[in-house]
Amino acid sequence: MIEVGWALGVVPGLVLLLLGLRGHIQLLRLIRWAEAPLGTPVPDAGGFWGDAFAALHKRSRAAADSRRQLQEELDRLEALTQALPEGVVILGAGQAIEWLNSQAAADLGLDAARDLGAPVTNLMREPEFVLYLENPPHGVPLLLRCLRTPGRMLQIVSTPFGAGHTLLLTRDITQLEKLETMRRDFVANVSHELKTPLTVVAGFIETLKDGIGPGVGEIPAGDAAHYLALAGEQAGRMQRLIDDLLTLSALETGAPPPAEERVDMRALLAEVREEVVSLSAGRHDIRLEDSGPAWLSGGAPELRSACGNLATNAVRYTPPGGSILLAWHALPHGGAEYAVIDTGLGIESQHIPRLTERFYRVDRGRSRESGGTGLGLAIVKHVLERHQARLAIESQPGRGSTFRAIFPASRVAA
Ligand code: ADP
Repeated sequence: MIEVGWALGVVPGLVLLLLGLRGHIQLLRLIRWAEAPLGTPVPDAGGFWGDAFAALHKRSRAAADSRRQLQEELDRLEALTQALPEGVVILGAGQAIEWLNSQAAADLGLDAARDLGAPVTNLMREPEFVLYLENPPHGVPLLLRCLRTPGRMLQIVSTPFGAGHTLLLTRDITQLEKLETMRRDFVANVSHELKTPLTVVAGFIETLKDGIGPGVGEIPAGDAAHYLALAGEQAGRMQRLIDDLLTLSALETGAPPPAEERVDMRALLAEVREEVVSLSAGRHDIRLEDSGPAWLSGGAPELRSACGNLATNAVRYTPPGGSILLAWHALPHGGAEYAVIDTGLGIESQHIPRLTERFYRVDRGRSRESGGTGLGLAIVKHVLERHQARLAIESQPGRGSTFRAIFPASRVAA
């Protein structure tokens, strides 16, 4: 009887103990899982614990999924900001750099890893930048020559956002600034080039006006004719300048000449020769060698103007008694070359790279005296570029110059 009673008491006790032990083990497994790295699979179990683990597993998978999605979004956002052509910097408390993209690092000369956390004004100490950050005028960008990236002109916009954060946008406007300077210089040059002859013409008109009619101030007919001739010369100079400006502008805005239009080079070179013979008026020995291809593909008026410009320059910059050779040859690779070789003044090497700039002259006085506009070689360069050709210049001061227009095989017509 006692044994039955004992058994009835002990067995449930043992069962309870076993159940408790099992629960304890599962609890330990759960704690171990909770302490394991994120993403560790939930332990397997049956029954009630299995259901609990499965529910946890589902939650943990959902959390991992949303974490992955969030990370993907963040990566996408980072890739997007890195791909922006503008620089982006996020500043936190005390102007500390919290994040910047690679364009901002390049623009500002910063290091995207090393400089994180540093106050930006410790790294960029330009007073105008420091002042601008302290009190950015709404919507007005700062133009900055950054000391950390010399030679660059930057446009910086600062915008406050969130709680105490600032967004800095940077843009490299060096190229734009250069273009703007070129435009300003060009306008100033044109105005200056027109002003001088215009002043002379206006002066002669005044003189002649005052001298009309008989009386004390009357100008003798011979003098009047002389003044008119001088005024006419200056008017001619203005006319040539305007013509060259119009030619340049047409070349700059127009499409390149078609490759299928055939230009008769023999006829073109004969015309150029006639022009320079007449300009030289017997002062130079002028020869033409035209063994090159008969046809070139391109625009006839443009090519005529470029070849003529190089040839007339040779006459204008070669003292009397010198010789000029116009040579048209085929080149071994299938292209062709038009060379103008003179025994003239020559050019010092430091000027050569700049000769095709608008209004660049080695000797301003000499250029004007010989009727130059300072635009001839700029026109030649444009015409050649439009024909995929290039200009090569060799020169020795006092000995002479060679200007070569080198055309590719694709422009040599069959
Ligand atoms: P310009 O109207 O002044 O001749 P160009 O653009 O044709 O303008 O030429 C620019 C400058 O290049 C000239 O002012 C001159 O100083 C120099 N130059 C051009 N061709 C020659 C040459 N054959 N010999 C010496 N100098 C030259």
